[in-house]
Amino acid sequence: MMKPLSREEQFKVRYPDAPAFRLRQFEAALFDTSKKSFAAVSNLPLPMRESLDAHIPWLSIASAHLFESVKKDTYKSIIELGDGKRVETVLMRNARGQWTVCVSSQVGCAMACTFCATGKMGFIRNLIADEIVDQVRFWRIFLAERSRLPNPSEAFQSERISNVVFMGMGEPLANYDQVKGAVKQLLTYTDIGPTHITVSTVGLLPMLRKILKDPEWPAVRLAVSLHSADSDTRKMMMPSSFDGFLEQLISWAEAYFEKHESRRRHLTFEYVMLSKINDTEAHAEALIRFARRVGKVRINLIPYNFTGSVYRDSLPADFARFQKQLADAGITVTRRRTMGDDIAAACGQLIVEKKTE
Ligand code: SAH
Repeated sequence: MMKPLSREEQFKVRYPDAPAFRLRQFEAALFDTSKKSFAAVSNLPLPMRESLDAHIPWLSIASAHLFESVKKDTYKSIIELGDGKRVETVLMRNARGQWTVCVSSQVGCAMACTFCATGKMGFIRNLIADEIVDQVRFWRIFLAERSRLPNPSEAFQSERISNVVFMGMGEPLANYDQVKGAVKQLLTYTDIGPTHITVSTVGLLPMLRKILKDPEWPAVRLAVSLHSADSDTRKMMMPSSFDGFLEQLISWAEAYFEKHESRRRHLTFEYVMLSKINDTEAHAEALIRFARRVGKVRINLIPYNFTGSVYRDSLPADFARFQKQLADAGITVTRRRTMGDDIAAACGQLIVEKKTE
């Protein structure tokens, strides 16, 4: 499949001689939620507005289905891309009463984590930056429209998207350039700051190393899906893991902290809690040893969302014991709230059913 043309490329094909500020006006206009088309972008010349509307879609994606959780704090959209491929994006109300958007970065995923629904799809294609950014724009438009209703429900008291997490479908670091491009657009054209954007990765070491050497990589937060500090268990859960991975990850983390010494940064490690697989006392001990070696860490325990795999979620008592064992060892540990499980919008449940027609 051919890579879709970005909006910037389409603009440059159409206006090869336009001054650079025109491209910026064009891009900036796309983030103005009071506008629905280029016709309303009054700082662009009229003929340009008309031809843009005729040739470049305002939004590069369309919502095929929208789901609302019973609590009305989580929304999921099945997004159709220009070539008919589908991904999912999620909008969640966060603790501050603002909103967090979860974006997909690939159609499917090649990492094949055994507990993840997307992992069962295989890899189909990378999204381009515009397709990632447009998931955020889609929810901005959604929130703006809802809050303009005569009786906006309580959920819509704030229409502000304060956080973006790359925790939808796909492995963001396997799509490095487009993810970086998407982050840059968000930082340039929205009020979301780099510490409010989190890129979650299975732990692709070559790409994690590249980030440290890349002066253009934005200072976003990184979360590494660890899931086990025991090498064999991790290899069993995640086929992308290998002998020596944990040691290499620890060395990488050292380099990461060296680079960011001045900033008060920590690394987040995600840990999905699977009954008897990675939630025993021995696993907690291994995790504590790992965390101590890495240093400034936050462990984010994720309740397992059932995806039809052989795994079961940790028993509440085991979950609590595991969490306490870490906390007693002085490790910063949090438990992720599960949201939108009634609409299969929770972590690892994002899969787009094959179309049967
Ligand atoms: N590819 C990225 C983003 C994946 S989704 C990564 O691996 O980090 C974000 C998080 O949800 C990851 O930590 C992922 O491992 C986790 N996850 C996947 N399936 C899950 C499930 N069924 N229940 C809970 N968390 C899951």
